[in-house]
Amino acid sequence: MFKYIDIHAHLDMPAFDKDREELILKLQKENIGVITIAVDKQSSFRAVELADRYDNIFASIGFHPVDAAENFCGSDFAELIQHPKVVAVGECGLDFFRLTGDFETEKKKQQNLFEVQINFAVEHDKPLMVHCRDAHPEVLDILKSKKKELGDKLRGDIHFFSGDRDVAKQYFDLDFCISFGGVLTFTDAYDEVVRFAPLDRIMSETDAPFVAPVPYRGKRNEPAFVKYVVAKIAEIRREDFEKVRKILVQNAFRVFALKG
Ligand SMILES: [Zn+2]
Repeated sequence: MFKYIDIHAHLDMPAFDKDREELILKLQKENIGVITIAVDKQSSFRAVELADRYDNIFASIGFHPVDAAENFCGSDFAELIQHPKVVAVGECGLDFFRLTGDFETEKKKQQNLFEVQINFAVEHDKPLMVHCRDAHPEVLDILKSKKKELGDKLRGDIHFFSGDRDVAKQYFDLDFCISFGGVLTFTDAYDEVVRFAPLDRIMSETDAPFVAPVPYRGKRNEPAFVKYVVAKIAEIRREDFEKVRKILVQNAFRVFALKG
């Protein structure tokens, strides 16, 4: 069992090129597990390489709704997903915040890319790592209709959760968890949903290298900072830190079927 798990970081990104190895070895010493998240085909390969090399690293493979330039190619991914340390599919989802060009065409494209990955995840019995920005009604619509079609195997996490209690509840009803990152340390906008959510539906993440928590705001974010996120969740819920820490680790082990 790890002491902490950062379920969403991008360790393959250039921000870590200078000290990736050193940083990962330090995480090993601190007993911190990380799921490194891909955003396109190349980063999916890189994520699997990292997971293959280091005990405490796991991979999620897939296409981000905005960053992905290519189409989802089933055959590359069908091979990658066989790796025992690939634990999820994504980050995939919808991002209507950064729409460019013709909005309707772009939305359709994102929806198709999302649906292909939902089918792929269920086919391989993996949870989804969902990115959703300014699109909760549409993501919920897709997940609800897919749930009817695909059943229990459709499950996962809504990363960097940005909805309210009602939205969270609808995700819980669909067998999804929600995860929070460093943003909790500098806004109270999510305090209510952090308090409302059952503790077994919450996970901790950083989204490193982005959005570092206080006291590192504005700097490069790192998976080691996940401890500030866990501490903040415990503080907001007014619960014992050790209890929250342990349960968040257990949640990640359960949702992603981690071993180690
Ligand atoms: Zn991300």
